[in-house]
Amino acid sequence: MTLSEHRDLRGGRPVWTGDRKDIPPSDPLPARCDIAVIGAGIMGATIAERLSADGHQVLLVDRRPPAHGSTAASTAEVMWAMDVPLQELARSIGEDEAIRRWRRVHRAVQTYAERIDALGIDCGRIDRPTVYLAGKTLDADGLREEAALHRKAQLPTDFLDAPATAERFGIAPRAALVSTGGFEVDPVRLTLGLLEKARSRSAKAAFPRDVVGLSPGDEGVVLTFDDGATVAAGKVVFAGGYERAPLLLPPQFSLLSTFLMATVPGAAPLWKEGAMIWEASDPYLYLRACSEGRVIAGGEDEDVIDSLSRDGMLPAKAAAVAAKSAAVLGLDAPLEEDRRWSATFGSSPDGLPAIGLAANMDHVWLTAGFGGNGIAFAALASEIVSAALQGERDPDAACFDPYRFS
Ligand SMILES: Cc1cc2nc3c(=O)[nH]c(=O)nc-3n(C[C@H](O)[C@H](O)[C@H](O)COP(=O)(O)OP(=O)(O)OC[C@H]3O[C@@H](n4cnc5c(N)ncnc54)[C@H](O)[C@@H]3O)c2cc1C
Repeated sequence: MTLSEHRDLRGGRPVWTGDRKDIPPSDPLPARCDIAVIGAGIMGATIAERLSADGHQVLLVDRRPPAHGSTAASTAEVMWAMDVPLQELARSIGEDEAIRRWRRVHRAVQTYAERIDALGIDCGRIDRPTVYLAGKTLDADGLREEAALHRKAQLPTDFLDAPATAERFGIAPRAALVSTGGFEVDPVRLTLGLLEKARSRSAKAAFPRDVVGLSPGDEGVVLTFDDGATVAAGKVVFAGGYERAPLLLPPQFSLLSTFLMATVPGAAPLWKEGAMIWEASDPYLYLRACSEGRVIAGGEDEDVIDSLSRDGMLPAKAAAVAAKSAAVLGLDAPLEEDRRWSATFGSSPDGLPAIGLAANMDHVWLTAGFGGNGIAFAALASEIVSAALQGERDPDAACFDPYRFS
């Protein structure tokens, strides 16, 4: 068995990919490094940037070129409100513990925005309000309760009734929560920008390089690649995304498929404030615009992970997303599709990521941002791993432990 699954992570044509000329050349593999990060998506790049800033000698490796995995399919709405509503999480683990986790993710999103800006990464980062529409999971009354809990947690959320939502955002009337503190990015540009910063501090990035084995010992871990090459690392951070490492990641972190479409450039604005829109439903529709003025919409998730079945569903699913988006926006005709794509997606029972030391392999960290907030979770993971590697105790680390369900 190899270290991690091999998957066709996405089908169709996402808006962020294309004829990219900004992928940097690969570095040769060094014989050793302080930290080897496996996976050069948004998770691995965020961690590599942070750890290189901490002074570690970092090696980032990937079986694909950087930002060619799930990150290239993402809608990249970086927000702190998560898939499992705060009130639902509070019912299962208690209000204080639920609030603690939500506040921590909120703080990670704020710190990430500041860091991206301070580093001067040109990735189209723009602060946007989030609009969370009433749906099958939470109706208007449920949203009112959710808003009250957000305020109790000092999270910046207001409740709007249906007419007020329609008036403010120019969409079909539906009660909603409006939150601040989120932002949009181009996920590929952000990943490449973080990687460039890490490399400017002497981090190395080697690809395509497939890690097939990890051998922990007293001094660290030896990584073995598919061509037999080896690298000795003090620590390993596994950031392989939805290509799970089955020996390390518990089965509660599961996969599904999601479907997206985008209009031609220049179709936006179709609503006000460039809000990032989603729904209190499962599955939910999600909508944003990008800097080219494309409207990007996704949803219609299915519990299939086989990529052939997934991609076979894409035309019908993209058409359904286009029609449902028009209904949300109050338009008479479906959004006109210019691009469509499908993607593997991850979820966890509490909507939170898996961040922590592997239980069965010394010196190995798991960082799996399963859920609709995978980019926010990359920011969070970089904080937790950074603190631990500097010998500090992160007070919230146990909240995101990969083995918390067992
Ligand atoms: C359609 C879609 C919409 C989304 N929308 C949002 C959103 O709006 N907001 C948000 O915050 N999040 C969103 N997410 C989630 C977020 O985008 C993902 O969590 C994130 O992009 C995953 O990044 P990653 O670096 O973990 O994985 P990836 O980008 O897949 O990178 C992992 C890399 O690991 C490499 N790898 C795996 N195993 C090995 C190995 N053994 N050896 C070498 N390399 C290996 C792979 O080649 C891959 O390139 C969305 C995701 C999808 C798919």
